[in-house]
Amino acid sequence: MTVAIRTPVAEAPSKPDGIADALFHPTGVDGVYARTHLYEDVIERLTSWISSKREPGTEVLRFPPVMSRKDLERHGYLKSFPNLLGCVCALHGTESEIRSAADSHESGGDWTASLSAADLVLSPAACYPVYPIAASRGPVAPGGLVFDVASDCFRHEPSKDLDRFQSFRMREYVCIGTGEEVTAFRDRWLDQAASLAGELGLTFDVKPASDPFFGRTGQVMAVSQLQQALKFEMLIPLHSTEKPTACMSFNYHREHFGETWDIIDQTGAPAHTACVAFGMDRLAVALFWTHGLDVDRWPAAVRDVLKF
Ligand code: ATP
Ligand code: ZN
Ligand code: MG
Repeated sequence: MTVAIRTPVAEAPSKPDGIADALFHPTGVDGVYARTHLYEDVIERLTSWISSKREPGTEVLRFPPVMSRKDLERHGYLKSFPNLLGCVCALHGTESEIRSAADSHESGGDWTASLSAADLVLSPAACYPVYPIAASRGPVAPGGLVFDVASDCFRHEPSKDLDRFQSFRMREYVCIGTGEEVTAFRDRWLDQAASLAGELGLTFDVKPASDPFFGRTGQVMAVSQLQQALKFEMLIPLHSTEKPTACMSFNYHREHFGETWDIIDQTGAPAHTACVAFGMDRLAVALFWTHGLDVDRWPAAVRDVLKF
């Protein structure tokens, strides 16, 4: 594996004046925005650009913004990131129970006290629903499986920053197979990182990273993830070069999800998995932040790549 590391330029690009107003409309909740046509047009172009990188034999699946609560529990999310989870709640019960709970709002009461968990959570990552689907298909054939997945994702990390939303779009390529197949897949994408960022005209750095596991035991998991070089991020300087923004991640889960979901390879061993995630909203924000709000004046090579 050769991880291309390019030293970022000394200074992060200066944030264009009026960027938030040009791209988003506030909704009254931090990190949840309506998006303008200018912004969505770039998201659509990025989407097509990522599709053009799809490897032959890849199966496309698109997921809704919610997923099975049971599946998420089995996935281990409550151990690793309970602080980030959003769970769907609903008013359950008889007509009169639901009526009186809802009506308590009109009289100044707390109708939410009557809510109870539905069998859904808000998907925190686009790849999670694919593992049980893969498991249901039986042993993974030699060569492995590759999926192209996407969904709106939710993480409870409210922020006023334009690069940290509560509701954002994630696109992923996911590989399931033997350790060799899966690491080869991740390394192919890591080797492409420089050309991906280059095509978009973005200054970048690729570095080992860890997930923000919850709590003190989480810190131990993060150290082990770093030691095993399981996660890399494509970092793009926006606010500053010291605190760059992760716009893509390259993740090797070893046999963790294979074991969790009983996905087996031809030999009966737990399958290995890896995923390459594109943060759609972060990439779009990075493009506007770097090249400005006037897409007509973006570098010609970037305009070509995005088919303007
Ligand atoms: P960070 O450390 O910045 O919180 P992460 O490690 O949580 O990122 P991943 O779990 O690897 O991110 O998610 C895949 C990609 O989804 C990230 O590389 C990023 O581009 C995007 N992403 C993650 N969290 C957010 C968010 N809150 N808002 C917008 N995009 C996000
Ligand atoms: Zn993933
Ligand atoms: Mg995060």
